[in-house]
Amino acid sequence: MSELLNETLSAQLIAYRHYFHEYPELSSKEFNTTKKIREILTSWGIRLLPTNLKTGVFAEIGQNDGPILGLRADIDALPIDEAANVTFRSKNPGVMHACGHDTHIVSLLGGAYLLKQQEQVLPGRVRLIFQLAEEADEGALQVIHDGKIKDLAAIIGFHNTPNQPVGQIGFRAGITSGAIDKFKVTLTGIGTHASAPQNGQDPIVALGAEIGALQTVISRQIDPLQGGVLSITHVAAGNTWNIIPETAFFEGTVRTTDKKIRQTIKTHFFDIVNNTAKAYGTTATITWYTGDPSVDNDKELTQIMIDESSQFTTTYDLQPRLGSDDFSCYQTYIPGVYANIGNGGTVSNHNSRFTAADETVIYGTKFFERNAIRLLKELSTN
Ligand SMILES: [Zn+2]
Ligand SMILES: [Zn+2]
Repeated sequence: MSELLNETLSAQLIAYRHYFHEYPELSSKEFNTTKKIREILTSWGIRLLPTNLKTGVFAEIGQNDGPILGLRADIDALPIDEAANVTFRSKNPGVMHACGHDTHIVSLLGGAYLLKQQEQVLPGRVRLIFQLAEEADEGALQVIHDGKIKDLAAIIGFHNTPNQPVGQIGFRAGITSGAIDKFKVTLTGIGTHASAPQNGQDPIVALGAEIGALQTVISRQIDPLQGGVLSITHVAAGNTWNIIPETAFFEGTVRTTDKKIRQTIKTHFFDIVNNTAKAYGTTATITWYTGDPSVDNDKELTQIMIDESSQFTTTYDLQPRLGSDDFSCYQTYIPGVYANIGNGGTVSNHNSRFTAADETVIYGTKFFERNAIRLLKELSTN
């Protein structure tokens, strides 16, 4: 553990944590957050990198030769009115750090401060990535587009998590989160009088058949020992009792943890929707949105980080889940590790009563500092 992380610095970091919590900002609107992060980094003599993005901050610490390691923290908040009983409650009505990204921001600031003190001995560089718009599922792609990861050897980050003692760090090699896809389907038939269906083509009956048939994709086409989910969550058609409408609409989502299964589901989805539509005399228009892939942690780097982190805290095995984080977008280009750090709270993320203990940022600071130094050493000897 770094002796540099003394009481004065801890108190300063916790004060920053309260500040960011009090002034949360929505995705892509993190203007004050961006300004404040830049001010703090500049006051510590850390060099900022130019960017074309309006929010988010990029900076670097270390030597010019050697590998570059990305350290990522997401910085946005959610459109929720805070109901948590804390002294540093949100002062921006209707906006709240209900996902605890304030703890991510300050953990990366703390890590940056400590790494700056050791800049002369770093075997490479760290690039600080304070990422905008994670909740909107847009930020990582913008950071990639801004050219900020193309020369990185690897990237690491974490999410704070409730129902886990504060500071315990969860790791899992391989896939830890679901890949997200979204679909919208419009069935077009021929509208007619409800009393004379033979004069039209009823899209509502076709839609009913499709909903039933689509449930067979998971139950009949996917290995029962493997997983996936296909949910239809919104259906709309018609507007009165005596007209068969021209169109019927449904949308929903697919979540998977395996690339092949993801493709299999998509293929069968298109087959069933198109062929069923045809069998009922209608035509289908499908819009398929390919969302984030799964978080897929590099095995070797994960092992190194477990070894390093278990020297300053307790580590545990992270269970996979079907939620997502756009950190996974980085991992399609470079190896990365995304961990969880217990926040000591009991309320789930995205809830108006969500809380995270202040000490989360102390462990988060160590997480970035210790793992960055260790990984740079390992990456520079490879
Ligand atoms: Zn969130
Ligand atoms: Zn989050």
